[in-house]
Amino acid sequence: MRIFERLYLNGEWVPASSPGSIEVLSASTEQVMGRIPEGTPHDVDRAVQAAGNRFESWAATSIEERVRLLRGLAAGLKDRADEIAMTITGEVGMPLGLSRSIQAGLPVTIMASYAEILSGFPFEERVGHSLVLREPRGVVGCITPWNYPLHQIVAKVAPALAAGCTVVLKPSAEAPLNAFILAEVVDQVGLPAGVFNLVSGTGAVVGEAIAAHPGIDMISFTGSTPAGKRVAEVAARTLKRVALELGGKSADVILEDADLPRAVKAGVSSCFLNSGQTCTAHTRLLVSRSQHDEAVRLAVEVARSFTVGDPFAGQAKLGPLVSAAQRERVRDYIKKGIQEGAELVLGGAEAPDGLSTGGYVRPTVFANVRPEMTIAREEIFGPVLAIIPYQDEEDAIRIANRTIYGLAGGVWSSDLARALRVARRLRTGQVDINGARFNPLAPFGGYKQSGYGRELGRFGLEEFLEVKSLQLPGDA
Ligand code: NAD
Repeated sequence: MRIFERLYLNGEWVPASSPGSIEVLSASTEQVMGRIPEGTPHDVDRAVQAAGNRFESWAATSIEERVRLLRGLAAGLKDRADEIAMTITGEVGMPLGLSRSIQAGLPVTIMASYAEILSGFPFEERVGHSLVLREPRGVVGCITPWNYPLHQIVAKVAPALAAGCTVVLKPSAEAPLNAFILAEVVDQVGLPAGVFNLVSGTGAVVGEAIAAHPGIDMISFTGSTPAGKRVAEVAARTLKRVALELGGKSADVILEDADLPRAVKAGVSSCFLNSGQTCTAHTRLLVSRSQHDEAVRLAVEVARSFTVGDPFAGQAKLGPLVSAAQRERVRDYIKKGIQEGAELVLGGAEAPDGLSTGGYVRPTVFANVRPEMTIAREEIFGPVLAIIPYQDEEDAIRIANRTIYGLAGGVWSSDLARALRVARRLRTGQVDINGARFNPLAPFGGYKQSGYGRELGRFGLEEFLEVKSLQLPGDA
């Protein structure tokens, strides 16, 4: 049980301005595993004031100093990696082994990457007789979701701090405990007071107060598309910059000349990672009609190997979903798939055997899915794969792009030039060719309603920078 009774504001742990608290439930037992303060708009005011007061001096710190502090933060997170993995497995339900490498490991990598990127970043350049400067945008409000909670926080906080911005963070109310661990690390590393501020609370109250606040210069938001639209609307009143990383419905396009068993195995694994609670999950598997039945057979075989169970026990490949609400949502989608005539070939809406408590859902595969069906269009955020047959390459590209989203995707072919040709035509922010692995330095973000702005690597840093031109006199 982790109980945090204070917010982290202006370099100190202080009580929230109201006595309310939010319970954090374990994904697998549904029991209370922690508690955090329920912040208020007044707490947001206090955080923004602290961040605003500190901004000028933080923006003026040397690159060396910021590099040193970012390295300190990376080391501090690494020291607490075990505790972070255990905490997030409790909050989110990802099997512990995966949590160690992804939920705890990735934030260390990303934090450290910004120390490296910052060291060599060109903050100034000449354009003719102008000196072009890249300056920090100001006070940044970061609003984050629960599925990869610390990664999503660090993917904003690290580049924001590297750029010279100060931060007000509101983590997800479902998985906030890891954010408090980060605040403890910030405190221990000795970031100047006010550079990083943590206000926990609900999206409707604390999140909206951040989006609306005139003292905040930029919002970096990751979450669902509806909440992202709301944040953009509220933020528009003060015309603040907004970066949005939203939902997805990504497609794996398996061309006929691909290594089918390998492609299907990777597709199922992408779809089921973190029990399907991954914004980049390849949830639509597009296969040639002539290979459909074989792909279905292979997918069922792979999906069967995703044993469901206790994420702490070491055997399970598929833990519970984050909450009972999410579990019910996903089960409703499965029922809808059946109602609309998709062919259920594995899984279903019933609880897995012996797992009636916790967010457990059966690994589920639908075959012969048509692009207009709900399960082919909407983000389910559960372990539910839709296998969609296509006629030819043109048809595959058309189906892949027939979505309001555009976050990720994959193309599989034994002919690299062909795979690249298809990948170039996909309207999506990332495409993995033949299962190539995640690159933490490559720009990450959406086309269409998956949002705007890019995270990670150099592009992620640029998101937090304004550009200023100084016109120099002839002799300069
Ligand atoms: P969510 O949209 O419900 O919440 C995300 C965050 O926004 C939370 O901190 C929440 O409290 C806050 N929030 C909610 N309503 C708000 C409002 N009106 N004003 C301000 N803040 C508000 O999303 P979630 O359920 O926590 O996360 C799942 C969603 O996130 C999925 O749709 C997933 O695809 C998406 N996601 C996207 C990416 C990406 O990078 N594109 C990454 C991870 C998750």
